[in-house]
Amino acid sequence: MSNPTPRVRFAPSPTGMLHVGNARTALYNWLFARHTGGDFVLRIEDTDVERSEARYETQLIEDLRWLGLDWSEGPLVGGPYAPYRQSERMEIYQQHTDRLLREGKAYRCFCTAEELEQERQLALQEHRTQMYSGKCRALATSEAETRAAAGESFAVRLAVPDAPLRFHDIVRGDVEFASETVSDFILVRSTGVPVYNYVVTIDDALMQITHVIRGDDHISNTPRQVAIYQAFGWQLPQFAHLSTILGSDRERLSKRHGATSVASFREMGILPQALANYLALLGWGAEGGTRETFTREELIAEFKLERVTPSPAVFDWDKLHWLNRHVIKQTPLPELRALSWPYFAALHWLPPHATAAIDAWFDRVLELFLPAVDQLQQLPEKATALWKPAPVTQEDASLLASEAGERVVRAFTAKILAEPGGLTPQRFKELMNEVKVETGVKGKDLFHPVRIILTGAHSGPEFDKLIPLLEDGSKLDLPTHVSSVRERVEAFIASSVGS
Ligand code: GLU
Repeated sequence: MSNPTPRVRFAPSPTGMLHVGNARTALYNWLFARHTGGDFVLRIEDTDVERSEARYETQLIEDLRWLGLDWSEGPLVGGPYAPYRQSERMEIYQQHTDRLLREGKAYRCFCTAEELEQERQLALQEHRTQMYSGKCRALATSEAETRAAAGESFAVRLAVPDAPLRFHDIVRGDVEFASETVSDFILVRSTGVPVYNYVVTIDDALMQITHVIRGDDHISNTPRQVAIYQAFGWQLPQFAHLSTILGSDRERLSKRHGATSVASFREMGILPQALANYLALLGWGAEGGTRETFTREELIAEFKLERVTPSPAVFDWDKLHWLNRHVIKQTPLPELRALSWPYFAALHWLPPHATAAIDAWFDRVLELFLPAVDQLQQLPEKATALWKPAPVTQEDASLLASEAGERVVRAFTAKILAEPGGLTPQRFKELMNEVKVETGVKGKDLFHPVRIILTGAHSGPEFDKLIPLLEDGSKLDLPTHVSSVRERVEAFIASSVGS
C-alpha cells in the first residue's frame, strides 16, 4: 500500500496574538508539507467563545501571510473538508457524540458539580490522584435516556478502556500513559459545548491529518486524543511534539521576556525571511552541518522532522539580529526603502509618499546607515544627525570651549560662511586642510569640534558620505528640513551668541 499524501494542520485558537512558539509550529508544519509535497491545512479553533475574537483571527492570517506561510486548505481558500472554523462544525461533533452514545463508547453523566467536588475532596484526603469514579458508567442506557428526555442536564463522558494509551512521537519516541491518568473524561460539557481534545481529534481524523505537529504543551492531551481515536476505531496519526522555547533565564518564553509576537517583530523591522530562518533553527538543524543561514527553498529542501530536537530551545536575540542583518544585506534596496520609509514618515522626516528625487536621496541614506542596524526601526536614531542633530553633551561643549577647540571653531565657521555656493566633499576636504594649516590643530582635535558643529556629536558617519547627504537633502522638499552645512554653521553661531 502506498503512503497517503502527508497532510498536516496548524490549528491556532484566535484568543491572542501569534507568538514565537506557535509561529514556529506553523512554520514546521508548512516546511514539512512543502518538503514532502503534502497539504497544509489551517484550522481555526474557536470553540472557546468567551476568549475567541474575530480580530485575532484576522491578525493571525495577516501574520502567517507576512511570514510567507500559505495554506492549501482553510479559511479564505476553502477545501474539501470545509468548514475550517470549529465554531461552524458543531453539528459534525454532535453527530459523532450520537454515534459514540449509540455504540456504548460514551455515556451520559448526571453527576452534579457538588458531587464531583465531594469526590475530589475525598481523593485529596486519601492522598489519591483524583479521577472520576465512573459512577454513571453503570447506568442503564434506557434510564439515562429517560432522565435526559426529562430535561435533566448531563455531560458526555468517554468510557475509557482499562489499557495503557500509547502513541509514537517522531521527536520523542514511544510514549505511554496509564489509562487511569485520563479516567472517563468529559467529551461534551453539560452546557452542550464539546471539549478541546474531542473536537481536535474529530477534526484531525475527518480532515485526514497524517502528522500532528504541535507544541509539547499538548503532549499531556495526547493520551485522551488517542483514547478518542480508539473509540471511533480510527487510525492514529503520527505525532511530533516540539520542545518548549525558553527565555535567556531558561524560564518558559513569555511576555516577561519582552516582545514575542510576530506582529511586534514586524513592527521592529525584523524581515520575515530572517524570522522564518531563525524560527527554523529553534529546535531543528540541517543534516551534518553547522550551517545557519537558509533561503526559503533551502529550508524546504533540508527540513526533516527526524532532525527536530526534543531539548528546549533558548530564544537568542543576538542570533535573530545577526540573521536579520544577513537578510538585510541580501534584500534589494527598493524593497528595503519601502520597508524603512514608514519609520521616517511617522516622525514627519519623510513625506507620506515618495518622489523620484527623495527616493534617490533616501537610498543613499539607507546605504550609509543600514549596515549599522539590527532592526529597521533603529534607522531614524542612527540617521538622526540629518534631521535632528542631538543636543551637545557637556563633555563635547567643553571640547568646543577648549583653547584648540575655539581656534578650530573660529577658523572653520569663517571658512564655511565665506563659501559662495554648495559644498562638495572635495571642497570640504580642502577647507579642512586650510583649517588644519592655519590653526596647527590636527587629528581628532580638529575633526571632533567640526563634527559637533555639524551633527551635535563627536562621532558619526564619515564626512565624505555625510556632507553630500546634507547638501543634497537641504534642497529637497521634506516635511522636516535637512539643513545644509552652511545652515548648520549659522545655527551654531546663533546658538552660541546667547550662551
Ligand atoms: N488550538 C490549540 C492551540 O492553539 C492547538 C491544538 C493542536 O495543535 O492540537 O494551542
